[in-house]
Amino acid sequence: MKTDYYSLDENHIDPAVIEKAGEVIRRGGLVAFPTETVYGLGGDALNHTASGRIYAAKGRPSDNPLIVHIADTEALNRIAVGISPAALKLAKRFWPGPLTMIFQKADCVPKETTGGLDTVAIRMPANPIALALIRASGGYIAAPSANLSGRPSPTSGRHVMQDMDGRIDMVLDGGEAKIGLESTIVDLTEEVPTILRPGYISLAMIEETIGRTVYDPAILKDTQTGTAPKAPGMKYKHYAPKGELIIVNGEREAVVSYIREQIATAKEGSRIGVIATEETCRLYAADFVENIGSAKDEEEVARNLYRVLRDFDDRQVTLIYSEAFYGGGISVAIMNRLIKAAGHKIIEVS
Ligand code: AMP
Ligand code: MG
Repeated sequence: MKTDYYSLDENHIDPAVIEKAGEVIRRGGLVAFPTETVYGLGGDALNHTASGRIYAAKGRPSDNPLIVHIADTEALNRIAVGISPAALKLAKRFWPGPLTMIFQKADCVPKETTGGLDTVAIRMPANPIALALIRASGGYIAAPSANLSGRPSPTSGRHVMQDMDGRIDMVLDGGEAKIGLESTIVDLTEEVPTILRPGYISLAMIEETIGRTVYDPAILKDTQTGTAPKAPGMKYKHYAPKGELIIVNGEREAVVSYIREQIATAKEGSRIGVIATEETCRLYAADFVENIGSAKDEEEVARNLYRVLRDFDDRQVTLIYSEAFYGGGISVAIMNRLIKAAGHKIIEVS
């Protein structure tokens, strides 16, 4: 399949390209598009054949449900039932934006879109290209991240082309994703609203709006096996680079000296990468040192994480050490992705 590629400026969106992309989706095809979190791989959410194509293009297991992207709140009423006042408060404060909510689904949403579940995940993205595309394609776009299953999510059009060229109809490149990590997912079908995936919208921000909210135990006990995660996607190997990734946590000096020692004593022939910060990147003599941003700016670290993991893949790095990023705000989401990418390999140093 030939993949048509278009570069768009989100401040001056070419309506002809959006019209063409909308038509592709209306007739059951697939279009990758930018959002403020990561790039999405979109198909018509109400067309079960289109959802099937999404799974095939990604190589994703079909029990892993898709998020339905909408552009207005009327659309919410058409595909969700039992919308609570709490949900409406969250929608009012955080939509359009990086928050996904889980509802009971309406009959018009096919089970292929929800991975067989009676619930549906819904988000209204903030990116103007995404909103224009949703409107042009009938109002409901099912979209997981536009990466091959198991690879880090794409945060640029280049990443999408690396994974999807030849597998989908069209790619809309809108530049770099502003947030760079997937949306927060909150389940409102539970008695106590439950965060199934941490993201830019934090637990504290949600609690400020609707009161008591909890993390799914699978997020907190991330290292514990045997807990079946409620967001089915969280059980799969995710976000992972091809090389082995090891996280090192502790006081900065101890972390730096541990990683330096590993570099110095590494096996001949290994290609070593380090995920370091603005403050520490000059302290390492590895083959590939990536400055992921300032330790003081977690949003910058979040924005760069997937690009850095993909850069290591491009350079065939075999062993990666990463500093840990425990702090406030979005660091819960950063560490959630990093720990999964590392297959839970964390070394504590002191
Ligand atoms: P992605 O589209 O790649 O960001 O992944 C979507 C995430 O949303 C996956 O982790 C899914 O398991 C989760 N998800 C989507 N729909 C539901 C649902 N109805 N209930 C629970 N989790 C969901
Ligand atoms: Mg994904």
